[in-house]
Amino acid sequence: MSLDAVSAGPEAGMAGVAVRLRGVTKVYDSGVAALGPLDLEVRRGEFVSLLGPSGCGKSTALRLIAGLAVQTSGAVDVSRGLAGAHGTPAIGFVFQEPTLMPWADVAANVRLPLKLANMPAAEATDRAMAALAQVGLSEFARSYPRELSGGMKMRVSLARALVTEPEILLMDEPFAALDEITRFRLNNDLLALWRALRKTVVFVTHSVFESVYLSQRVIVMSARPGRIAAEFRIEASEPRGEEFRTSADYAGFCRKVSAALAPAYEGRRA
Ligand code: ADP
Ligand code: MG
Repeated sequence: MSLDAVSAGPEAGMAGVAVRLRGVTKVYDSGVAALGPLDLEVRRGEFVSLLGPSGCGKSTALRLIAGLAVQTSGAVDVSRGLAGAHGTPAIGFVFQEPTLMPWADVAANVRLPLKLANMPAAEATDRAMAALAQVGLSEFARSYPRELSGGMKMRVSLARALVTEPEILLMDEPFAALDEITRFRLNNDLLALWRALRKTVVFVTHSVFESVYLSQRVIVMSARPGRIAAEFRIEASEPRGEEFRTSADYAGFCRKVSAALAPAYEGRRA
């Protein structure tokens, strides 16, 4: 054990914890107070949703966790024990837009993070194919993004996030642009992947129904600057499926979460 692991450094008290935010605020250079103060702890292997109206700072929170932006105050800790395999990042990020390279085929898009980490090409290809199998797209490795549906593009984006075998998956409204049936399918496939891989997932959405369906814990955020307005533990028997989606329990959770979310929309135009 290294010396700094026993002193009260950033890792202190992180046992079992993947992500911890303490008193985190973000004020952009424009003067917009986007977030916080926010305190949040996500346990390893947990599936947590951040739910809130648009503009409340959800994406900002994810970017701070990913290290893509720097907080104005407070502390953001991501467990250092969770470095990705092969020197790749411990965090995978799925954006709302699939952000694929249009000139490269699906396999090359998924390989990109490994290429950036200088992994030998043959190994990178094997791992990209394994990631494509995880999202059910093995047969589309040689296709180009323009040949794929919106749902399939999002699967490619998910494969690209998984290919580095990150411990933590950050997902920013990944299914918001998809039709409902496609979204339900991807929700089920994401849950199946989570059950198999037990990643820590922080999932951002503005959909009450989606957050309740997917998560072990739903964190309802206030209007900007986003703070935690309420928190719900969603207890349901595993594996979740259509039975849960149509159950009275599910409807009850959705009602409670909606009620907690409503104040964040007050003062807005419909
Ligand atoms: P959400 O994801 O919940 O919709 P964001 O985190 O994207 O919210 O944004 C929160 C607030 O911060 C919004 O008012 C947004 O306009 C503002 N904001 C986001 N990114 C920037 C930026 N790079 N510079 C200035 N303001 C920003
Ligand atoms: Mg956003």
